[in-house]
Amino acid sequence: MIFLQKYLIYPIRDFIYPPVCITCNQLLRDHEMRICSKCWNSFTLVDRSQPTWIQLKMKFDMEGFVKDINSCYLFEKEGKFQEVIHLLKYQGMKTLGIMLGQELGKRIATDPSFCGADYLIPIPLHKLKQRERGYNQSEYICKGVLAASGIPVHDSIIHRKKYTQSQTQLNLQERIENVGDAFEVNQRFKSLVPGKSFILVDDVITTGSTINACAKELINLNAHNVFAASVALAQ
Ligand SMILES: [Zn+2]
Repeated sequence: MIFLQKYLIYPIRDFIYPPVCITCNQLLRDHEMRICSKCWNSFTLVDRSQPTWIQLKMKFDMEGFVKDINSCYLFEKEGKFQEVIHLLKYQGMKTLGIMLGQELGKRIATDPSFCGADYLIPIPLHKLKQRERGYNQSEYICKGVLAASGIPVHDSIIHRKKYTQSQTQLNLQERIENVGDAFEVNQRFKSLVPGKSFILVDDVITTGSTINACAKELINLNAHNVFAASVALAQ
């Protein structure tokens, strides 16, 4: 079968649909998948010195539920990176989630403050939204983080009980009210939470209200630590 795929099926497929970069349409080289190296390298990286990172960290410190954060890229509007996130969230390109998750996982694996985390938790979608979309992009990001860091994924601890409206048009106060009590720890996993450390994983963190609402539920059940990790931070 591998022989058939390598020498017969893949060449025919590549002849009909030549593998091109999803953001610049250039032909991909052998080692490249979906996104060419030039586009990958054009995404703006973030670190702890980045103002968006500092602001978010300060906000989480004030709220007192999220201990620390980690992220890879800056989410800039109208850029190539925004297109990648759009394809991941709305066009079913789940492999992008795994690829971006691997980049995030490499950072988490080398970040001493995330050391010893017990579980990755993808930020849950409401079941109606998940049914509409067909998948939760954060679960695919978690698969990539797991591959790079070895930290197991648990996707049933928390569920979203409230069908919240899209956050994009809301201001900060409205966002907090919108997601304030949107999450709940599932009854059968409540006994698993005390003393454990969790990493909440999302695609893009903007105000942090969603992550904070989730973290609050875990801390209220005596979780040891809750961390936030995302592929990108938005200004
Ligand atoms: Zn490209």
